[in-house]
Amino acid sequence: MNQEIRKLYARIETLEKENNILANGNSSGLDLFSHSKDGILIFDSEETIVDVNPSFAESIKMDKQQLIGRSLCEIVPENKHFKLEKQKELLKKNNSVRGILPVYSGTSIIEFDFATSTLNESGLFMCILRDVTSKRRLERKVKKNEELYADLFIEALDGIIFWCSNGEIIDANEAACRIFECTHDELIKRQVKDFVYEKSERYRNIVKEMFIKGSIRDELVFLMPNGQFKSLEFTVKLNSVEGYHMTIFRNVSERHAMEKSLRESEQKFRMVFEGALEGILLWNDQFQIVDINQSGQRMLQMSKEDLVGISLHSILNDCNITDDELKEQIRSIHSDGQSDGNLSITLKSGRKKFFEFSNKLNIFSNISMTTFKDITEKLEMEEQLRKSDTLNVIGELAAGIAHEIRNPMTALKGFIQLLEGSVKEDHTMYFNVITTELSRIDSIINEFLILAKPQAVKFVEKDISQIMKETVDLLSAQAVLHNVQFRTYYEQNLPRVFCESNQMKKVFINIIKNAIEVMPKGGYITVSIQKESEQRVHISIGDEGTGIPAHKIKKLGEPFYTTKERGTGLGLMVTYKIIEEHKGTIEVESKLGEGTVFHIYLPI
Ligand code: ADP
Ligand code: MG
Repeated sequence: MNQEIRKLYARIETLEKENNILANGNSSGLDLFSHSKDGILIFDSEETIVDVNPSFAESIKMDKQQLIGRSLCEIVPENKHFKLEKQKELLKKNNSVRGILPVYSGTSIIEFDFATSTLNESGLFMCILRDVTSKRRLERKVKKNEELYADLFIEALDGIIFWCSNGEIIDANEAACRIFECTHDELIKRQVKDFVYEKSERYRNIVKEMFIKGSIRDELVFLMPNGQFKSLEFTVKLNSVEGYHMTIFRNVSERHAMEKSLRESEQKFRMVFEGALEGILLWNDQFQIVDINQSGQRMLQMSKEDLVGISLHSILNDCNITDDELKEQIRSIHSDGQSDGNLSITLKSGRKKFFEFSNKLNIFSNISMTTFKDITEKLEMEEQLRKSDTLNVIGELAAGIAHEIRNPMTALKGFIQLLEGSVKEDHTMYFNVITTELSRIDSIINEFLILAKPQAVKFVEKDISQIMKETVDLLSAQAVLHNVQFRTYYEQNLPRVFCESNQMKKVFINIIKNAIEVMPKGGYITVSIQKESEQRVHISIGDEGTGIPAHKIKKLGEPFYTTKERGTGLGLMVTYKIIEEHKGTIEVESKLGEGTVFHIYLPI
């Protein structure tokens, strides 16, 4: 831009010179009149044109003959007539006038630089005109460029400094003064390098490279006169204006500080995010997963790589929900953009897990957040607690009632026997019913009593497979009766289990009895005992019976839950209670029509 300005200036100068020569040059001689490049116009005191030279006629696109006799007013635009008036006035006073005059040339207007003077005593005036339209245009352009340049320099937000070859600063804009914490005067005559904080190897390399390449862009720390340190980004251009060098500075300290605090806050967020015990899931308005923390990955048993980018509803496999339904649900969320609830998800491993979740919509730029917690264990615990609560209540009740019933029972039994001996008629059938019913009551009461009193149980280390073998032997007669056979697998060298053998026997009896009862047409009962880990042994007892529907499995172990006509619904309750006392757990796996497996885990 500056070179252009310089060129323009040169052009103007030559025009100016030529102009002056003409203006001051002699006005006599016909030769000059007809051959002059400048226009010459002779008019009288009435401003009527008397003569024009060919150059003028040509420049305004008219014939000499057409022009002679016309008034000057006719060839000058009306809004500039005042210039003619002024000329008249000045001619009277000074005999000569100079100025700018616009004249019609066809449909356009030409601007002339003119000089009018009185022509001897003839009463005529001679006006010499030079077309300065393009010169004026150039001048205006130059002025505009200068203004633009000044604007850029002065108003620029970046600091701009010009310096000469010895390094001295010769000009600086306001922004530069602000950056260097100096007044304009303080900055002039100093050198940029005075402000460089460390003249390190890096600094020297930058200078070297700058002289080689002629320009450079880099960043350094500067020390300001007020003791302030600033990181400045700069662009140097050597010989940018008339032998001066230019450097543009930008203060990047704030940007650096901002970047640092941004990094820190990102780190803080990451730590909270990743460290949270709850799973946190971020998703966009397309329901695509954007991010998930470590707890979330653990709970869903999927890695971040697998999750990011996939649709939210593809992990909601249990809900059978379409995208549209999901959208509808999300839309119907409370006005505060929040919703929560429970849902279940079947994980890759096949395990069904229950989650408690809470959604927050649009927490920032279309990103929504779901926090979730695995409540599977909590639900299981609650279920266990509920069961053991009822067991305890039953236990207390039983303790009270069982004894009260037992005593009269003994009396009843004795008298029935006496009666049976003394009655003449044959009532064997009745007596049989009475005795079996009585022994049934007896067994119920016995089971009650197990719940009731924390019996004087002696826990000792026992071989659990030995206990199982004895139980199987005990029940084999009953099994044969129902056409049921045993398949048993006992692992070698099983560790001993700390237990009460009679109670364990009771557990096995209860479960195996149920298994026999559930296979009226016979089948196999599969018993296996193995070491599950260093901590537990795993005992499983499976049948080929009807199976138990999923929603009924929960009810197992509840007192009096039975589906059998003559069942007590106490067997499994006692079983659960005993296993609980042994700090073990029971799991039931069942398929309708295929059979049921009871898994018992006991601590070693
Ligand atoms: P009861 O045998 O007196 O009915 P239990 O507590 O032993 O009482 O069993 C409760 C209920 O659990 C049974 O009535 C039956 O419905 C169900 N059940 C227990 N074991 C099995 C099994 N192996 N297969 C199918 N259902 C079973
Ligand atoms: Mg039973």
